[in-house]
Amino acid sequence: MFLGHYGVALGLKRAEPKVSLGTLFVAVQLADLLWGVFLLLGWEHVRVLPDDNPLLRLQFYDYPISHGLVAALAWGAAAAAVYYSWPTRDTTRHWQAAALVGVAVASHWPIDLLVHLPDLPLLGNDSPKLGLGLWRHLWVSVALELCMLAAGAAVYVRGRSRRSPVRPVRLAIVLVTLVAVYLGSLWGPPPPSAAVIAASDIVFLLLMGFLAAWADRRASPAELAASGR
Ligand SMILES: [Zn+2]
Repeated sequence: MFLGHYGVALGLKRAEPKVSLGTLFVAVQLADLLWGVFLLLGWEHVRVLPDDNPLLRLQFYDYPISHGLVAALAWGAAAAAVYYSWPTRDTTRHWQAAALVGVAVASHWPIDLLVHLPDLPLLGNDSPKLGLGLWRHLWVSVALELCMLAAGAAVYVRGRSRRSPVRPVRLAIVLVTLVAVYLGSLWGPPPPSAAVIAASDIVFLLLMGFLAAWADRRASPAELAASGR
């Protein structure tokens, strides 16, 4: 899953507006970010296979540290702890905000479960592996991804407030970038190697985090004063 994770992030943003959308963008994709790092470290492995369906070109045969169910829960707890202990002056609803970040991280697994072939382990590589396999149906997958992103964007726009406004041009840049990269990955050339996949995965996911933080900047005192008039 790709766009669907970002739909979740956009929706969760309105459950707790004090968490930056940039933080949530990285949180929902933390599993894929770690996967990229672990591929480069040689701790996890992927195979690139020729397949007419571009969604089935990667064979995820070894990724229990980033994509196991137990790992997802552990990474969620760790991310919540890091968020909670991060130095900040704004400590209102801090527990709730940290918990939301943990939920965002852990949400990666059940969302991936919808589309992956049965390759998501419960614990290690010898444990049962799950996946509902929607990726076998290219157009169903594309429609689901787009619907989830659109639903998240709708919640995000409707939940805006004076302190947490929508910046339409910036939001459009984020959404168009996501959709363009997603469709480009489907109809572009197959990835040349696992190392290239890992490096581009890391760079792209971090870049999207920065873009989302930029798009979601809270209202400045001057903007608040202007909107209150
Ligand atoms: Zn994933």
